[in-house]
Amino acid sequence: MRGKEGSIGSSVIVLDATAFYAGIPLLSSSGFYTTTAVLEEVRHIKKSIEAVDLLVEVGNLRVLDPGGEYTLKAREYAERMGEHRLSDADISLIALALMLMPSHEVTIVTDDYGVANVARAMGFRVSHTISKGIREIGVWVRYCKVCKVTYDDASRVCRICGNEVRLRLVRRGSANDA
Ligand SMILES: [Zn+2]
Repeated sequence: MRGKEGSIGSSVIVLDATAFYAGIPLLSSSGFYTTTAVLEEVRHIKKSIEAVDLLVEVGNLRVLDPGGEYTLKAREYAERMGEHRLSDADISLIALALMLMPSHEVTIVTDDYGVANVARAMGFRVSHTISKGIREIGVWVRYCKVCKVTYDDASRVCRICGNEVRLRLVRRGSANDA
């Protein structure tokens, strides 16, 4: 039962740095978001983030920086919970989720206990990185845009028209384009 879905907008996924270390496949056009501060953190760990840059370029990953009021609210909330060790990147992620919340169903992907703790307390859905996380909310399938046929095997081309099939994320239990 998901009564909220009618009133809340599309679901978006907000990613922290651990999501990138885990190598999340952001091939679909789903709403993936992160912040500049998080990307900076990733840049420090991973020498090459060309793949991430490419995702930003094609628009599959959007980099948004929340306004100061959201940052302040996120920091205050964390402090009240006794989470004093969250980095600016951590806070920016929670602030971004706050900013997106009014019009989206937000899931935060993080392996950081502190971030997950605060995010849950604020009412956000929290997932851990790809193996346990993303798959809880969706599955990757291969899809032919021309024939509108879904393949759940590793086909690279459509067996009907021969066009290249694309990966897309669908909500579990529904292969339809909601
Ligand atoms: Zn086809």
